[in-house]
Amino acid sequence: MRARSTNRGVRSACGWPPAVACLIASLACTTAWSEVDLPRESRVPGGIAIIELGAAVEPPGEVFFGGHRAPVLPGPSGWVALIGIPLGTPPGPQSGKFVPAGEQEPRPLDFTVKSKQYAEQRLQVKNKRHVNPEQDDLERIDRERKRIDAALGTYTAGRVPELAMRPPVAGERSSSFGLRRFFNGEARNPHSGMDIAAAAGTPILAPSPGRVLDAGDFFFNGNTVFLDHGEGVVTLYCHLSRIDVKPGQEVAAGDVLGKVGATGRVTGAHLHWGIAVNRAMVDPALFLPPQ
Ligand SMILES: [Zn+2]
Repeated sequence: MRARSTNRGVRSACGWPPAVACLIASLACTTAWSEVDLPRESRVPGGIAIIELGAAVEPPGEVFFGGHRAPVLPGPSGWVALIGIPLGTPPGPQSGKFVPAGEQEPRPLDFTVKSKQYAEQRLQVKNKRHVNPEQDDLERIDRERKRIDAALGTYTAGRVPELAMRPPVAGERSSSFGLRRFFNGEARNPHSGMDIAAAAGTPILAPSPGRVLDAGDFFFNGNTVFLDHGEGVVTLYCHLSRIDVKPGQEVAAGDVLGKVGATGRVTGAHLHWGIAVNRAMVDPALFLPPQ
């Protein structure tokens, strides 16, 4: 459990405030729709906005941001939307779309994104094709981009994600999420995940329950596993030396996904761990207990 339960007040057995618990006792307490742990909120590019949608009995509707459906979850004092904010989002006002259940017309869900200046990182990569790919590589990269987009854009309704996660490998977590990257001096996309240092061969454990969406060898990411946690929350694990799961497989928290390696565009063995929320890559540190 997280150390953030201080302001929850009096709870029913299922975690809902008593006023609503009496209405939903037979619903939420006996189904998966009881209160879930939420990640920490951080309304910055690469962060998460948590927006209250009221304490209705039934799920209140659908939420979209940037054309992708966002998780709607039972929080400590009612339903909330979790909106993943893409790294490229400019600071200032933003608006998601809330389509209430049974209605057609979306309502705006307004919030403000604060600025966050991520540092620069300059890396030397030995394989020059990983910086300036050749024609064959470009075709492969294009095919893989579609496959990656499909995996990261997966939205599974009704599968309630467990968002209080454990680190997938023990090891030193870098604060490398969001770094503006230069490979061999050339600007590339910002770093969209967390790197965890670990020796090659270290087992990688599922940080929370999920279903394996895809697994295979990718040009930049090396051997990669994608997990669907539900409601638009998808995690990925890159540069593995070995993959130990198959698409379609259900995994529990702590199940082995594969082993740490140095496949793809890397400077050495480590795990790259990414989390997508409504397709936006957000900082995995928001889902882990504070260090
Ligand atoms: Zn990385």
